[in-house]
Amino acid sequence: MRRITLFGATGSVGQSAIDLIARDGDAYDVVALTGGRNVAQLAADARRLNADLAVTCYPECYDDLKSLLSGSGVEVAAGPDAITDAAARPVDWALSAIVGAAGLVPGLEALAHGTTLALANKESLVTAGPLLLGRAKAHGATVLPVDSEHSAVFQALVGEHMAAVERVIITASGGAFRDWPVEKLATATLAEASSHPNWDMGQRITIDSASMFNKAMELIETKEFFNVSPDMIEVLVHRESLIHAMVGFNDGALMAHVGPPDMRHAIGYALHWPERKALPVERLDLAKIGSLSFEAPDDARYPALAIARRVMDEGGMSGAVFNAAKERALDGFIAGEIGFLDMARVVDVTLDKMSSSDGLQNAALSLDNILETDRLARIRAGEAMSQLG
Ligand code: NDP
Ligand code: MG
Repeated sequence: MRRITLFGATGSVGQSAIDLIARDGDAYDVVALTGGRNVAQLAADARRLNADLAVTCYPECYDDLKSLLSGSGVEVAAGPDAITDAAARPVDWALSAIVGAAGLVPGLEALAHGTTLALANKESLVTAGPLLLGRAKAHGATVLPVDSEHSAVFQALVGEHMAAVERVIITASGGAFRDWPVEKLATATLAEASSHPNWDMGQRITIDSASMFNKAMELIETKEFFNVSPDMIEVLVHRESLIHAMVGFNDGALMAHVGPPDMRHAIGYALHWPERKALPVERLDLAKIGSLSFEAPDDARYPALAIARRVMDEGGMSGAVFNAAKERALDGFIAGEIGFLDMARVVDVTLDKMSSSDGLQNAALSLDNILETDRLARIRAGEAMSQLG
């Protein structure tokens, strides 16, 4: 039996993983499941999958989780440190599906124990790509992509040499506002930004898709994961979300990965890698679909893409600043403190301030420096929010 742990088990990606695992329950020994406020789901899955341990990141949720699991034999713990401790338990495979920078430390801990880490948590790579991948290398651990575009690139590269790669194209649906007049974007509400035309995902990544911050993060994720230069990476708006990415080779060939917008494909590929096994996803009827469309992204509609290019050029700590400022701005938008377009302004201003005043651009990429940068960037982003005209 393969020992597995799921970080962020109660989320959208976590639940898709559980759907796959529960179908083949005898194949897996579930060591730990982690979640946050949704302790009812966490407890139900811990019972169903007979997990050794269930952890909520919120200490105030401990009592509820404990009582929901009473008599089950499942061990219960709470708090961020308890999640990191769970990552130290030996497993063969772990899913990193916590949302936000909170996924970084558990991921690093899992890699330090040689665990194969299936990475949905793109924030880890944006914030600390070289640290995370360096940790994997130092401990002989493997990081597998779960983000659909990166899984697609990874699959298109099987058997290929990176020297033959000319470009990597990641596709974007265009998000909730792809057909809105640009002038109207400033008035976009939380409810409007929280629905995605093609994918069913957690609220934060859905809003990030509407603003294209999700694709901005994925540009950086592509650079870090595949070690390609920023000028080789392109974003292509593809409304149908059926081609997830393409790799262009030096003989002019483009290898496209086509599949339904269902995260169980990318999760399942990482779960069974290096094998390819049957998955319960829809088989596409291309004749019925008829046509696929492609457009260049509109820079005025999606300022986040230019910000990502800036971050890739600056390097160093700017990924950590970018991610933390984006998370703070997103909190602000969700709380109704700032408007939809203000998110990009806040991130831009925070990058300006921190490149010039906090001297962190050239700091060593250690975990302590990254966490301190993350903390400072959230403060600077909060200041930028209060100064918006
Ligand atoms: P969700 O918001 O649906 O789920 C997030 C998970 O993390 C939940 O289990 C949540 O617990 C838990 N969580 C929230 N805050 C913390 C914290 N501070 N510490 C520890 N755990 C926490 O997110 P998604 O599943 O949509 O996304 C997860 C990750 O995968 C993100 O990095 C996202 O960018 C990436 N991703 C998601 C895709 C998707 O289809 N959803 C596609 C590609 C990548 P609870 O809900 O119980 O509070
Ligand atoms: Mg993606």
